[in-house]
Amino acid sequence: MPTSPSDPAAFTDAASADAAFDLAVVGAGPAGLAAAVTAAGLGLRVAVLDAGDRPGGQYYRHPAPGLGAARPEALHHGWADFARREAALRVHESAGRITYLPAHHVWAVVPDGGGWTQHAVAGPEEAAAALRARAVLLATGSYERQLPFPGWTLPGVVGAGGAQAMLKSGLVLPGRRVVVAGSGPLLLAVAGSLAAAGARVPAVVEAAAYTAYAGHLPALLRNPGKLAEAATYGSALVRRRIRLLTRHAVTEAHGTDRVEAVTVARLDRDWRPLPGTARRIPCDALAVGHGLVPQLELATGLGCATRRTADGTVALALDAQQRTSVPGIWSAGETGGIGGAQLALVEGEIAAHAIAGRPAPAALTGRRARLRGFAEAMGAAHRPGDGWTGWLRDDAVVCRCEEVPAGRIREAVADLGARDARTVKLLTRSGMGWCQGRMCGPAVAALAGGEPGPDRRPLSCPVPLRHLAQLPPADD
Ligand SMILES: Cc1cc2nc3c(=O)[nH]c(=O)nc-3n(C[C@H](O)[C@H](O)[C@H](O)COP(=O)(O)OP(=O)(O)OC[C@H]3O[C@@H](n4cnc5c(N)ncnc54)[C@H](O)[C@@H]3O)c2cc1C
Repeated sequence: MPTSPSDPAAFTDAASADAAFDLAVVGAGPAGLAAAVTAAGLGLRVAVLDAGDRPGGQYYRHPAPGLGAARPEALHHGWADFARREAALRVHESAGRITYLPAHHVWAVVPDGGGWTQHAVAGPEEAAAALRARAVLLATGSYERQLPFPGWTLPGVVGAGGAQAMLKSGLVLPGRRVVVAGSGPLLLAVAGSLAAAGARVPAVVEAAAYTAYAGHLPALLRNPGKLAEAATYGSALVRRRIRLLTRHAVTEAHGTDRVEAVTVARLDRDWRPLPGTARRIPCDALAVGHGLVPQLELATGLGCATRRTADGTVALALDAQQRTSVPGIWSAGETGGIGGAQLALVEGEIAAHAIAGRPAPAALTGRRARLRGFAEAMGAAHRPGDGWTGWLRDDAVVCRCEEVPAGRIREAVADLGARDARTVKLLTRSGMGWCQGRMCGPAVAALAGGEPGPDRRPLSCPVPLRHLAQLPPADD
């Protein structure tokens, strides 16, 4: 049984021991952290494995210790709540109820005689680690959705969430004059943070029209807190004189050594650029993202059922207890559909109650219903229109890892008969590189005439071959 989190090698033999833990939580973002602390409070022995160095996930990011940030909370909403949960994690850790394993990237979860073994790559030495638990909660969050355009590979073009992450973790700005573009409420938060940190933001370029929310009035009225948040972001833009261009998109980035300007065009309802509306905005950085995509490799590797969401992504199909379709596997947070940090916290708590065999308090389930309703409205409003590929010239790179331009993908579809993203991948190598299609997947699927399917891979991250060679035969 594992004893020391600082000694990953101690975990190697855990797969052959009795299930050491009642619950393994994969991911220490808002969902995983809330679940772990709640489950430990309800008497379960919990292991938390997280690829990051500190708890908090994508939302609660810690400035690197060497930067000496005096007020990390200044860049976050709800830092006090996070600090309270992190303190609870430490208390449970000292009492032996939680084993917290940072820098443990889980590459597979495999069934193992009534329990589950988590296989991980641990620490900078990439040690092999394995750990058994009777139940598993997958809280692996999401990553950014990118819709490519000519020039998106230029230095100075960063993800919108990536810009926020640079600021929260590194206290750096991607540039001095930063256009923020794409779609989704994250853009407003990012523009506000960049401007507050001293960047000039010439424009926020939002591809959707906010009037799309009008069709979801009941969900909006049930979430006055979200409306107040939107109003706060809106007034910050007005105060800082940041232009908000809705139903517009960045259709090209220009520059030689780095981005120097972007072309912005007005879009029709399907996100097709309208002729004659293009204009240039000078900038030295572009922060661009079109929402988030649930990170599902571990879950789909286990065969968990998925569902198509309002924003056009694929999420896990979960029941009211946060159970997946595979008995013994639960999930919470963005894996069940993009909905934000508050929803992730609530779902983590509900899952912990269910795993401990306790009914979740009605206040929690009511809050989840309200926030999920808002998430559906948000997803529908910001779902990319089919016409976005209209800004993708044939020479624009789509798969950055394998350097596959849009023209080659179109050729695979029109001339070689590819009808889905998988066939396009086999014909062009798009999605076969280091990122394994996380960046180009939605674009390749759209060019192939469909929607992205569930991510299916046997390994969720790169694994040294020696780890595979060491596996006991049952896990092969
Ligand atoms: C780049 C980025 C920036 C964002 N910025 C903002 C923002 O500024 N404001 C805002 O409101 N929302 C932001 N969001 C959204 C917000 O972070 C989420 O709504 C919230 O964090 C969801 O919580 P979660 O617990 O579901 O997932 P996350 O917070 O994403 O946590 C998932 C955790 O799982 C870990 N993990 C994933 N896979 C594995 C694995 N195989 N093995 C081990 N660990 C694993 C990750 O390291 C991470 O710690 C951002 C999202 C992204 C992707």
